[in-house]
Amino acid sequence: MISKKKLPLAFWIFIGLAVGVVAGLILMNVPDGAGIDVAKNYIKPWGDIFLNLLKFVVVPIVLFSIASGVISMKDISKVGAIGGKTVVYYMCTTAFAVVLALILANVATSVGLFHTLDTTDLSYTPPEGQSIMTVIVNIFPSNAVKPLVDATMLQVIVISLFLGFGILLAGEKGLVAAQIVDSFNEVFMKIMDLIIKLSPIGVACLICPVVAENGPMILRDLVAVLALAYVGYILHALIVYSSTVKLLGGVSPLEFFKGMAPAMMMAFSSASSVGALPFNLECTERLGARREVASFVLPLGATINMDGTAIYQGVCAVFIATAYGVSLSLGDMVTIVLTATLASIGTAGVPGAGMVMLAMVLQSVGLPIEGIALVAGIDRVFDMGRTTVNITGDAACALIVSKMEDRKEARTRAVRG
Ligand code: ASP
Repeated sequence: MISKKKLPLAFWIFIGLAVGVVAGLILMNVPDGAGIDVAKNYIKPWGDIFLNLLKFVVVPIVLFSIASGVISMKDISKVGAIGGKTVVYYMCTTAFAVVLALILANVATSVGLFHTLDTTDLSYTPPEGQSIMTVIVNIFPSNAVKPLVDATMLQVIVISLFLGFGILLAGEKGLVAAQIVDSFNEVFMKIMDLIIKLSPIGVACLICPVVAENGPMILRDLVAVLALAYVGYILHALIVYSSTVKLLGGVSPLEFFKGMAPAMMMAFSSASSVGALPFNLECTERLGARREVASFVLPLGATINMDGTAIYQGVCAVFIATAYGVSLSLGDMVTIVLTATLASIGTAGVPGAGMVMLAMVLQSVGLPIEGIALVAGIDRVFDMGRTTVNITGDAACALIVSKMEDRKEARTRAVRG
């Protein structure tokens, strides 16, 4: 799939980004705000269409790819073993990511990189807050269709797992259902490919109104928090993924990042873990991951594993607290680690989802949700980096779990033989 023909797509996406930025800068300078109106009313809708297409394909992709991953493992206890390892890796690395982000952001505050800002004009309409127990209860659907219609991703994952388990348990009689799931999986991956081809236009139409409305000033004001988030992304990738793929997955960090480059570029330009999923599947398999493991671990990761998002949330929480002149206690920091880890599970792998979940993190420590307005204007730039980290973490996990399965099988063979 990643042939020479595919790589230029990432290039075109960057061109789209550049065109969007330049067009935004030009439109911003048209007198009487006429250019901004054009950007908002005539360019943004095309970007929205692209986002709508990405969103529409998320549910079937997750539903069929996880179910087909489960089916391809042929054995429920194997799914449990692989799922267990996957979730442990995902949770530990995400918690590490938030801790790293909090350390960096606190250092930034103490050296005066973040300071109190004028926040009187800020407004952001918060989504309704939820307690942690409600979040847990809501993972389990009470209806088989509604979660698919509403795109409630965690519930879709649960349905998908049960679908896979049911098909495995049904044995012979489940064969037709298994073929249907596999076939739909292929079909939706192809649809996803088609939508990805539209990314250059989509990206240009999304970035143009952001630049036109906010101008480059917003970038200048927020350069510190943005740079810090990127330092966090890079450190996390270098520390956590390099060491774990080397020690547990037997792949050298250089080989890993080189092999992952196409998927990472795709994630960076599309800001969607789900959008980058077909690329990620291809890259991890080329790096030596087993297909049955990758097709289970990666879609699950695209939905529940968001280390980059967790870093962004940690950095932004401290940035917003400082902007409002609030100092966070150690207890607040622990709460942020817990909620950001949980929020990352509930974040869909689509552009902008992490910013919505930032509301939950801010609420958990009583910070004003309006603070999101401070970083919302450049969310796309945060998002590109965090999505790249998100999918790289998924890939590292797929490689590690594959290696563990290889070792386990080798041991079983040695005992038998
Ligand atoms: N865009 C991210 C992703 O797809 C989610 C987020 O907004 O943090 O992984």
